[in-house]
Amino acid sequence: KEEGNAYNFYTEEMNAKAQARMRMETSLRRAVQNRELVLYYQPMVDSKHRIQGMEALLRWMHPEIGLVPPAQFIGVAEETGAIVPIGRWVLEEACRQAKLWQDQGFQDLYVAVNLSARQFRQPDLVEEVLDILERTGLMAHHLKLEVTESSVMDNPEDAIAKMESLFGHGIRFSIDDFGTGYSSLSHLKRFPVDTLKIDRSFVRESTENQGDQEIIRTILAMATSLNMKAVAEGVETREQRDFLCKEVCRIMQGFYFGPPVPQADFEGLLKRGVLGE
Ligand code: C2E
Ligand code: MG
Ligand code: MG
Repeated sequence: KEEGNAYNFYTEEMNAKAQARMRMETSLRRAVQNRELVLYYQPMVDSKHRIQGMEALLRWMHPEIGLVPPAQFIGVAEETGAIVPIGRWVLEEACRQAKLWQDQGFQDLYVAVNLSARQFRQPDLVEEVLDILERTGLMAHHLKLEVTESSVMDNPEDAIAKMESLFGHGIRFSIDDFGTGYSSLSHLKRFPVDTLKIDRSFVRESTENQGDQEIIRTILAMATSLNMKAVAEGVETREQRDFLCKEVCRIMQGFYFGPPVPQADFEGLLKRGVLGE
């Protein structure tokens, strides 16, 4: 009915899809209890390739299918509400791990955690985040929450209230995939946003496409004038890195420096300290 038709043709294929989805829903619900979820960590580095922090990225180790990337299940988890307990687990696990690494001597490390739109709408989000920080012992300023333009623009007043409250406790926010959504600039300046993450679609062709170069320059200039930081996502080549450094983008993330890796491998990177050549 959402598609505007009074009726629709029903096919075998749709039936198979619906069944696959239902199986996914049921197994997702069990994933947290069965400990099938794991976090990978991707480094965020400065211009000298020193690790400043890491983004926690969710993976599902499905007992039959194997490793499932988030693109294949976050959507379903959002629709069914399963994202709420999953997101809570992600946040707690990421904070616990960050605190562990800090205790091993990597004191200034911060962790970035993605928050879905649905999680962002949770009425008790602020209490939940503060509770997790308390339980794990991670200091608030070592946590960055990544939200998208659409999840904050969905209900800007509610978003501002929650962000202000968390910000008041020292928690920082990044706008993920920045430049791909509809940010109202008048709202943007009211949000307590710490960082704009330049979407990787602009970085991808930044060495050949002048339009993308201009967009990156514009976002960097905007971040500076709004007193925010900028992070470039999806940096895959040396040329892209050089372009970004020339434009004074101080923090970068991407396969060029390192893909998301399991906790043990990330620990190896931390011990090395500097990534790439
Ligand atoms: P995102 O937050 O924008 O995360 C960055 C994505 O880009 C990750 O994909 C990462 O593996 C990928 N990436 C990083 N560097 C490069 C690069 O150089 N080239 C290319 N082509 N890709 C790169 P991933 O891990 O598959 O996650 C996809 C999306 O799923 C994330 O996008 C985020 O929106 C969502 N997601 C991941 N983990 C969570 C989570 O714990 N909670 C929620 N709500 N969403 C999550
Ligand atoms: Mg992210
Ligand atoms: Mg992103």
